[in-house]
Amino acid sequence: TEFSTLGLSSSLLKAITAAGYTTPTPIQQAAIPHVLAGNDLMGLAQTGTGKTAAFGLPLVERLLAHPAAAAPRATRALILAPTRELVNQIAQNLVTFVKGSPLQVTTIMGGVSMGPQIKRMARGCDILVATPGRLIDLIERNALRLDMVEYLVLDEADQMLDLGFIHALRRIATLIPKKRQTLLFSATMPKQIEDLSRSYLNDPIRVEV
Ligand code: AMP
Repeated sequence: TEFSTLGLSSSLLKAITAAGYTTPTPIQQAAIPHVLAGNDLMGLAQTGTGKTAAFGLPLVERLLAHPAAAAPRATRALILAPTRELVNQIAQNLVTFVKGSPLQVTTIMGGVSMGPQIKRMARGCDILVATPGRLIDLIERNALRLDMVEYLVLDEADQMLDLGFIHALRRIATLIPKKRQTLLFSATMPKQIEDLSRSYLNDPIRVEV
């Protein structure tokens, strides 16, 4: 299978080539067409399988295909991940995918000062990659709104639960419109993840690699 058969547009195919990817990984082959079609998805996949591009490429494609109606810029995609390192890694990947487009990617994470994050959010971003705890801190300071989010990604969901983020996740989910596309990735599928997916995903496609 080639990237060109997965339904991505030529601008994304160019970004893929620029990123140095030649062949889609199994999770990318399995997930990208479903995400492009607008389905919710539950992916059982480890780090290193290419799962970031599996959700990132079709997400960027959909954001570009349906430009936001209104200015000022509102956050349309929220990606939650357990650690700073992962947030940075995801954001770096996404920046390569949005290159040359008007989409802005911003990160929010604990362990660094809050001021610059508040300023960045005031300027607005299309795609926000965040750790759940710091995101709650900024929500409590009225530094951001999630009421225009159309895409929610929970990455390494099992890790987020292990780190005690369940209450933060539940709270964040109440602030995001119900009408959205939700993608959940996890390396393991314990009962709590099944429960989480039952409450946040709508008739998800299951993909396992
Ligand atoms: P991930 O599992 O998303 O953390 O990706 C692991 C690494 O593989 C990252 O450095 C990606 O940039 C890289 N990668 C993802 N997809 C591909 C692909 N189709 N071909 C080559 N490298 C890839």
